This record gives sequence, C-alpha cells and structure tokens, in this order.
Amino acid sequence: MSLLKGLPWNYQDLDFKGYSIAGQTTSLMFNNPKICFDIGQGLPFHMNAKLYCLTHLHADHGAGLNYVLSQRSLFRLPQVNIMLPKSVIDSADRILKEWMKIEGFEYSYNLIGVDAGTTFDFSEKYRVMAFPTTHRVSSFGYLVYEKKKKLKAEFQNCSRGELIKAKSQGVNIEEPVMVPLVAFTGDTQIEFIDSHPDVRRAKVLFMECTYLDSKKSVAETRKWGHLHLDEFVENLTKFENEHISLIHLSARYSSPEAAEILKDRLPPVMLERLSVFPRPF
Ligand SMILES: [Zn+2]
Ligand SMILES: [Zn+2]
Repeated sequence: MSLLKGLPWNYQDLDFKGYSIAGQTTSLMFNNPKICFDIGQGLPFHMNAKLYCLTHLHADHGAGLNYVLSQRSLFRLPQVNIMLPKSVIDSADRILKEWMKIEGFEYSYNLIGVDAGTTFDFSEKYRVMAFPTTHRVSSFGYLVYEKKKKLKAEFQNCSRGELIKAKSQGVNIEEPVMVPLVAFTGDTQIEFIDSHPDVRRAKVLFMECTYLDSKKSVAETRKWGHLHLDEFVENLTKFENEHISLIHLSARYSSPEAAEILKDRLPPVMLERLSVFPRPF
C-alpha cells in the first residue's frame, strides 16, 4: 500500500484509487474517466487526471493544487479543467499566479466556479454535477452521471421486430437518460443527503464519516462541519445507494476498530452494501 500510488479499490467495473484520513489528506481518483475528487497535498497518482473536482480548499483536500499543476506543466500535460466553489475562484487564481511567479514558469489550467447544480459535460459518456454540502466553508460534492439511452415510453411494449422496423424507417426510438453513478461528498454534515435526490441514488456514494462513537459527540462533530455515525444511523432509510464507501474517518480509529463499531451499529442489510475506503492502518 502506497500513499504515492493511492490505495486501490473497486466496485464491480468501477475502479478507484485514493487516500483519505480526516485532517491529514483526502483525494480519490475515479480511474475509468480519470476524474479526480479533491487533491490532498498533491501526489503522483493525481497527475494524469482529465478533470479535478475540488469540494473545498481546506489544506488537507486542496493544498496540492499548485504542486499538481506545476508537475503537469513540467511533464507538458495538456490544460486541465478544475471545478471548485465559485467563492474561492479569485483566491485560488491569485495563489496560482503567485506560485507561477515564484517558479518562473506557466501552469496551464482552467478554473470552473461551481454553484448548486452546476453541470459540466465531461465527455460523451459522463456528466458531472456539483451538489451543495454543509461544512464550515462553502463546499460542494460532485456527482458523476453516466449518459445512457433508453427506449421511449411509446416503444416499451413493442416486439424486437417492430423496433427494428421503426429504426429502419428512421424513427428515433430512444431518448437520453442520466444515470447517477458515483457521488463524492468531501467534508460535510449529514444535511447533504437532502441536497439533491440523485445523490442518494448514485450507484456508489463516497461519504465522509469522521467520528463513529463517543470519542467525539454529535454536537462537537457538527461544530466542525463533519458527519457522525449516529446521524448516518438516524437517516439510514434515505440512502438508496447500491454501495456506500466511508471516507475521511478519524485517525483515532484503526480499520479493524472501525469495522467492529460499524458491525455493532448498523443492520446487516446496510452492512452488506457498506465498506470503509482502504486505509493503511
Ligand atoms: Zn474541510
Ligand atoms: Zn477534511
């Protein structure tokens, strides 16, 4: 397991690598489309992303931005789009320009300021949407949709032969549909779950859950804009996700300890579709 390469994890054919520990570092690369959620302090496994989606710029999630852009320039990688909260665009741009002055060369980037519901058509296959999260500073999670096609309602009861005939006559029998595939919260309180109905329907949800027991009370956890297991337990019925991967656990829990607590607190039906994103301890 290596911090430099990120820790690998997959769900079916969805492939990821990342590293996430509360207060230390958080980033996750969705390998299929090469979309990177948060960037930690900037590591080699972040370099070849085709889009960066930054939830907020607390240092453990965003401090690596200048390093990654600097390295990308040295390797002559193409200009890259970076989605981040609209409210920090000017500050981030100023910092990057100062770093360029210090380093004596140009970075190639395009900042996209996001608000609730901002979408970005990443490719033929994927669209990204920002959804509001609740943290101590302006913050957004990101939801990747897979663009698919489905039969229009009027053709759903047709036989295969009828469909082939309609198609051969040039009739458009399909319509586009957006399938919520992967959602990433960054830092947030539980309220994010009500911010957009597709977040709770995403096939895989990466959700921060910093504290799991009385090491930190719910009130204290919320004071710092984070999520406590008690609140997840209270809201279980809202989560329709096929799988939930918990990120951003406090370093106060070892992975075996976290697994024990989750086993105690969650019903089997939830445990079957839940995991803790890999951690090195
Ligand atoms: Zn934060
Ligand atoms: Zn954090």
